[in-house]
Amino acid sequence: MKKIFSHVLLLSSVLLFSACSNGNSASSSSTTVSEIKEKTTDTTSGASVQEYTDPTTLKDKYDVIIVGSGGAGMSAAIQAKEAGANPVIFEKMPIAGGNTLKASAGMNASQTTFQKEQGIEDSNDLFFEESLKGGGGTNDQELLRYFVDHSADAIDWLDSMGITLDNLTTTGGMSEKRTHRPTDGSAVGEYLVDGLLRNIHEREIPLFVNADVTKINQTEDQISGVTVTIEGTEKVINADAVIVATGGFGANMDLVVENKPELKGYVSTNQEGSTGDGIKMIQSLGGQTVDLDQIQIHPTVDQTKSLLITEAVRGEGAILVNQAGQRFFNEMETRDKVSAAIIALPEQSAYLIFDAGVKERVKAIDFYEKQGLTVKADTPEALAKAIETPEEALKATLDTWNKAVANKKDDAFKRETAMDNDLSQGPFYAIKIAPGIHHTMGGVKINTNAQVINTENVVIPGLYAAGEVTGGLHGNNRIGGNAVADIIIFGRQAGEQAASFIK
Ligand code: ADP
Repeated sequence: MKKIFSHVLLLSSVLLFSACSNGNSASSSSTTVSEIKEKTTDTTSGASVQEYTDPTTLKDKYDVIIVGSGGAGMSAAIQAKEAGANPVIFEKMPIAGGNTLKASAGMNASQTTFQKEQGIEDSNDLFFEESLKGGGGTNDQELLRYFVDHSADAIDWLDSMGITLDNLTTTGGMSEKRTHRPTDGSAVGEYLVDGLLRNIHEREIPLFVNADVTKINQTEDQISGVTVTIEGTEKVINADAVIVATGGFGANMDLVVENKPELKGYVSTNQEGSTGDGIKMIQSLGGQTVDLDQIQIHPTVDQTKSLLITEAVRGEGAILVNQAGQRFFNEMETRDKVSAAIIALPEQSAYLIFDAGVKERVKAIDFYEKQGLTVKADTPEALAKAIETPEEALKATLDTWNKAVANKKDDAFKRETAMDNDLSQGPFYAIKIAPGIHHTMGGVKINTNAQVINTENVVIPGLYAAGEVTGGLHGNNRIGGNAVADIIIFGRQAGEQAASFIK
């Protein structure tokens, strides 16, 4: 086994990559494991060490090959192994985790044990309806039904593996607290990836990094495995089933602009490996794609480092103000609408304004502060001065907002959620944000068995896909917290189905 750096520091390394990235293809990335190690060596002591599989142990054949080591790929691998198969994971980047590592808000699920314990009444039907509404009614309803009905079980499955998401919050477009986060309210991605990796290791599932899959092979209409370049050497590895879990294409600006020209020039929150390889490989096997032009921009992205500011900041009470120090929209509307409202401002950017209470409830803010993204002041007036908005205007905005919270009635913009706490506890904070490319909702077409569908609407036997590489579930606007649920629910399903296919 090859020793890799502390996972505790992965997130900052990855964020560093993405900050440096101009959105070009990851295959051109020259960052090596040793370079990452160098960047992190000074601070790794005492942290848990993750290991990846030694390339010299690579075999010619596995039961199931999984391409990509984000949440979908790792869930698929664990489930396939539980179902009695011997899977392998190939990851093209030097580290596991993909965009999953950067997931922030949490995992949406309804009728869960944790909701019941906390007295939150929710239903799968309501979760279905709100996701459908959020997606403009264009979601693949069969996938969505499967998704909501299996969400609670996915939370229990994670919990059974020591990945406990029992802290609940709300995201835009959801009326109930169904966004499940780690106990301390921290961002979900790193915690989830850490937990999944731990389970991958415990089950001795091989995970090769720097392993770029370039082709899915077929022999006489049967899936026969993949071609992978591993540490510079091309190899053909056989398997009767392949699961494609390569994520989206939000870091491939050519593909983004080809599908949605108006996004030219936007920053991207995506990790470098999100280049759409899986979509291209599946298309070359006759696979069908859906909604490729449905690319989500996230409203709250720091533009200096392309860093996404989690929706949980608004979910825990923050408001958005313009340069004039005034609110301008319902902050808890869906991402497409909030983004559009920001773009419609003359300055095309806004400030998230919050207090010490929000900071306490959203651990990720400590990280934003360390990155130098927060402006802090003892009073609303001092904060206004620091961000160059009129002092009286920001003070009046906060006073009006705090009254709205007290009365549970937002006359100005009809916000109805995330009003449990007002913004009165100093110090006060501001983070400047604007929209950025975040999630590609389109992708390859699958059915509820996670089987890939070809252009003639027929299943391609032995070929499965899960996660952001697939399309249809989210319609034309993904709800915050539904991506993490997607990768776990359909990752598991792909693993289960692939394992039963090879039997
Ligand atoms: P999801 O959320 O759907 O699990 P992620 O973005 O978290 O997606 O993970 C997808 C992973 O797949 C990333 O780590 C990415 O680097 C990896 N990947 C993408 N293309 C390839 C490829 N051609 N070969 C191997 N790994 C790939």
